[in-house]
Amino acid sequence: MTKKIAILGSTGSIGTQTLDVIARHPDRFSVVALAAGGRVRELLDQVRRFQPKIVSCARADDAQRLRAELAPATRVVHGAVGLSMAAAESGADVVVAATDGAVAFDAVFASVERGIRIAVANKELIVAAGELLVAAAKRTGAEILPIDSEHSALFQCLVGEPPERIATLILTASGGPFWTLDAEHIRHASLADALRHPTWQMGPKNTVDSASMMNKGLEVIEASRLFGIPAERIEVLVHRTSVAHGLVVFTDGNVKAQLAPPDMRLPIGYALAYPDRLPSGAGGDPLAALGALGAPSARLEFERPDVTRFPCLALAYQAARRGGTVPAALSAANEVAVQAFVAGRILFGEIAEVVSDVLAQTPDELADLENVRRSDSRARDLARNSVEARSAAAAK
Ligand code: MG
Repeated sequence: MTKKIAILGSTGSIGTQTLDVIARHPDRFSVVALAAGGRVRELLDQVRRFQPKIVSCARADDAQRLRAELAPATRVVHGAVGLSMAAAESGADVVVAATDGAVAFDAVFASVERGIRIAVANKELIVAAGELLVAAAKRTGAEILPIDSEHSALFQCLVGEPPERIATLILTASGGPFWTLDAEHIRHASLADALRHPTWQMGPKNTVDSASMMNKGLEVIEASRLFGIPAERIEVLVHRTSVAHGLVVFTDGNVKAQLAPPDMRLPIGYALAYPDRLPSGAGGDPLAALGALGAPSARLEFERPDVTRFPCLALAYQAARRGGTVPAALSAANEVAVQAFVAGRILFGEIAEVVSDVLAQTPDELADLENVRRSDSRARDLARNSVEARSAAAAK
């Protein structure tokens, strides 16, 4: 019996790496649905190779093109409804949520309602609606397995541990490409500079978020929601070599850490196979396994992040503390600000300023699904206004 996998966001960085894991273990996994946004050529190649029953894309005209190319046995759907069908109606045992932003909200909720395991790479989803999602999963018995490397690490450290004995969760950060720069250089950093990440290969949104450390801020909120620990007990430590991904300090003073090479296929494989582990061929020789971590693995060095140079981190803690729909606003505002930076409309340093503008205008309210949606779209409008004002001021 193979585990049936549906992948939302199959042509992105996590999606393609998930297919890579599946291709290496055909005896364990099969693909029942693939969903992508606009990269239809790549999607078509994936469909031919992995033979899913359902294929979903964003637009109706792309769906027409796919239908023309594929055998009638493959069901081609599109839009938000298509995405939900691919997730919840494909017979999947595991839905991999690897889209960017808010697009997969409904599809993921529909899957959780059916008790299907979600392997989440889409941290915006957990940040905005994590409390609701975790509550729904408790009710239906759906498991939520993190793909984010830090959260996979924490999950692995927490297996079998009583929640009341957890003192602190530690998320490690590589520090990104700007860790050694001063504030003024960071403010004026170019897109090319921001995309030069020292250790991880990721999509552009994640890479810019890593440079601003908003990625780590979102991860603090993500960890808080997934593990039910308040953000005050979640710390970020900069660990340049990305060997230890997450550590847990227990009340008795013991610390557990998870070490692995910076390769997303490890957390992906763990989330798909849990509670089992996949064979990798690296297990036997202890020195070979440690060698795979890279030469710096012998030195586990950590330092505190500097929130004055990386204000996005402080903004995320503010959102976590305020709770309710504020994290949704933070994430949505950041998405708009990052797009504006990528489009050359604002400076890198203005990403944090746009987000800060939006948080200052965001009310505190309870997080039900309707409020989360409203907070998301209001934050996008406010962020666009802030971007307009800044790019108009810069043009003068
Ligand atoms: Mg991460």
